[in-house]
Amino acid sequence: MSRQLPLVFEAPRRGQPPRHWADLSVSERREAMVTAGQSAFRARQLSVHYFERLAADPADWTDIPAAVRSQLSELFLPPLLHPVHVLSCDGDTTVKTLWKLHDGALVESVLMRYPDRVTMCVSSQAGCGMACPFCATGQGGLQRNMSTAEIVEQVLDGARKLAAGQVPGGIGRVNNVVFMGMGEPLANYKAVIGAVRQLTAPQPDGLGMSARGITVSTVGLVPRMQQLATEGIPVTLALSLHAPDDELRDELVPINTRWNVDEVVDAAWEYARTTKRRVSIEYILIRDINDQAFRADLLAKVLKRRGNWGWVHVNLIPLNPTPGSKWTASRRRDEEEFVARLRAKGVPVTIRDTRGREIDGACGQLAAHEA
Ligand code: SF4
Repeated sequence: MSRQLPLVFEAPRRGQPPRHWADLSVSERREAMVTAGQSAFRARQLSVHYFERLAADPADWTDIPAAVRSQLSELFLPPLLHPVHVLSCDGDTTVKTLWKLHDGALVESVLMRYPDRVTMCVSSQAGCGMACPFCATGQGGLQRNMSTAEIVEQVLDGARKLAAGQVPGGIGRVNNVVFMGMGEPLANYKAVIGAVRQLTAPQPDGLGMSARGITVSTVGLVPRMQQLATEGIPVTLALSLHAPDDELRDELVPINTRWNVDEVVDAAWEYARTTKRRVSIEYILIRDINDQAFRADLLAKVLKRRGNWGWVHVNLIPLNPTPGSKWTASRRRDEEEFVARLRAKGVPVTIRDTRGREIDGACGQLAAHEA
């Protein structure tokens, strides 16, 4: 196995970005507008432009006096994300962007357009402190937490591209957001929940997305999973399990030494029970490491033990190897056997498509390469 890095829960306190409109609540926006010497009603005007019309250019804000537009833009919409690389594949319907943040930290987001929907995969931290040895981001450690607005801006960038017809398939909108880019979302809980609220607030106060279209993934920060269940926002929870037994999971997902398989699956089950939302169990298939038939049987047992009322769904992910890694994707026949064994035990299972694979699709690979 690779060298073991320490788990890091507390993000270094550095480099927080300037305040942005998407960091503020509706009442804070009105207060900020008054503090800026403007009428409170301009807050709604600016929100309409930002969240509803997706008009980032102040020249388009024609209901606001020209002299005021640049002031509001500078005060409330400071540029937070600067593109370093934009790569596309799948006929330009998969677009991956490497962003530089104001302090030089690098993060990634990916837009994936399917015939019936658009999914944005976003980052929640610059780097990650969870030290998963198969993951490029984990190997680089944690630089800092991202702010609410830095998270929201990744989605808005995709929304603006779609609204402008820049992604093949005609004018469109973002239907799904998955927090599966760089970082452990629940380790940056406050900013992530803030971003979910901004994305789901009705227009013009937010982007007006359905919470059901949002997936928050975690390696298993149990207290935060429990807290998430009480927020009253029915996002989908995805638990990155990757192994059904503690011996292997301690190595693959080091947070397991803090909260073990039983504890994280209990917390996932409790989330499903409280929210009535089916939990997704993420399982990266790694050749000869976690893809044996007996582990498929054990996974089914671990999940079925909690009941059989459709609370869970397994999402198998073929490993996208980190450059230089000794681990690789499972053989086709092992993958098929793994799926067959889960199905035979009545566990719903799908294999995730591997969009963006040829452009360093796995989280963190582009940033790791750049660094
Ligand atoms: S797999 Fe996810 S949680 Fe683990 S190190 Fe990578 S980004 Fe962090």
